[in-house]
Amino acid sequence: MLVDSHCHLNYAGLIEQQAEILARARASGVTTMLNISTREREWDAVIATAEREADVWASVGIHPHEADDHPDIDTARLVAASAHPRVIGIGETGLDYYYDHSDRGRQQASFRAHIAAARETGLPLIVHTRDAEEDTAAILTEEMGKGAYRGVIHCFTASADFARIALDLGFYISISGIVTFKNAKDLQATATTLPGDRLLVETDAPFLAPVPHRGKPGEPAFVADTARFLAGLRGETDEELMAGTSRNFFSLFDKAAA
Ligand SMILES: [Zn+2]
Ligand SMILES: [Zn+2]
Repeated sequence: MLVDSHCHLNYAGLIEQQAEILARARASGVTTMLNISTREREWDAVIATAEREADVWASVGIHPHEADDHPDIDTARLVAASAHPRVIGIGETGLDYYYDHSDRGRQQASFRAHIAAARETGLPLIVHTRDAEEDTAAILTEEMGKGAYRGVIHCFTASADFARIALDLGFYISISGIVTFKNAKDLQATATTLPGDRLLVETDAPFLAPVPHRGKPGEPAFVADTARFLAGLRGETDEELMAGTSRNFFSLFDKAAA
């Protein structure tokens, strides 16, 4: 068992050769993929892939980069779209102050609408955060006070302090191919301290191809390389890490396990 907890199968670079990409993922032992949406106009296509492929699931959400293009996104539309049987998560959402592609106030409002949808549906929230640790932690904590919800910090690159806050809120943490990069020493150190029952792995394909595939477009097959690297780092066998992260995926995304 091996799960890619976050990929974009409908993005340019993967959509043109989706059948081959899926075949290569299965050949490298990937048994489940979560196909993530980032814009409302792509929800139908992302869900359609999950309807067609038994090992692919879908999320609905608006990426923080796209917040300006979705000024009227509300909780009700997210809740309605997530009722589809193949939709198992809300996101990706969050805050990206590195690129600042959207107004920060709009990013925050969209983030809160997604949290409300996660709370209302019980589906996990998929959080993207970059150069925005302080506001992300503040919003997650404040919203948790209004009523419980669950989720994952995807493509984790933040500090050990932020990891602690997220774990204390009950969040899972998903590690991408970035952990295999030579200059990712801090992330590698943090990754060894994360509790084994809260850990997920992902590609974020078509982005972030891990070593030894750097320079190529990422694809879900490469989650095996990240999993093996992480197992070595944590002193676990590949099998332990792959089975553990798969188990964690289904305990968080329990609509897929039902
Ligand atoms: Zn992201
Ligand atoms: Zn993503």
